[in-house]
Amino acid sequence: MSKKIYLSPERRVAPHGKYWGMELYEHDFCGDVARRTGKALEQVGFQVKVQDDPALTLEARVAEAVKWGADCYLPIHTNASTDGTQQGTARGPLVLAYDHPASQAACQAVYEALLKIYPDKGKGRGVQVNRTFYEIIRTPMLSVYPEIAFHDNGDDAKWLAQNPQAIAGALCSGLSAYYGLQQSSGTQEDYQKELERERALRALAEEKLARIQKILE
Ligand SMILES: [Zn+2]
Repeated sequence: MSKKIYLSPERRVAPHGKYWGMELYEHDFCGDVARRTGKALEQVGFQVKVQDDPALTLEARVAEAVKWGADCYLPIHTNASTDGTQQGTARGPLVLAYDHPASQAACQAVYEALLKIYPDKGKGRGVQVNRTFYEIIRTPMLSVYPEIAFHDNGDDAKWLAQNPQAIAGALCSGLSAYYGLQQSSGTQEDYQKELERERALRALAEEKLARIQKILE
């Protein structure tokens, strides 16, 4: 049975998230990357829903993902270290994880795929645990939250703007690697790995559900 991936690109429209030195904004770029990523994911066998409607709140998006039966919730963002009035110096990809090994493993796979295409490897920021973002702590399924690079830095902004298709390919190959789509199918070892991953994902979902229940009480 193929996994269902729900994509939630940045919902805040212009003037939020202006790319340094360009007439490009985070919502538009991330929406474009989400549609390209969706196509790539479908081509390798995932089921996909891209939700790019800025009118839908994060709460509404998460509720929609739950109702649809998403296995994985994938926000897509670019990052900023300033308020946009001056150029930022921070650079590089970052993936935000829920505080659980299964989430960290999936985020690591996506991070590694992003770093493969990012030109300045030394600037990579790795996987970080996040304990506040709604789409990380209120999603009862796996979430992988990439901040692809810094749009308020001129070099990163240029790289982003020139590479939407490569970025989509990286997000797709990271998730494919995590879900074992590149493994040669049929060996006992692959099957063991798959069982281990499923066990970890169920433990993650149990823990997230219990925490959400606590928040709602
Ligand atoms: Zn954003």
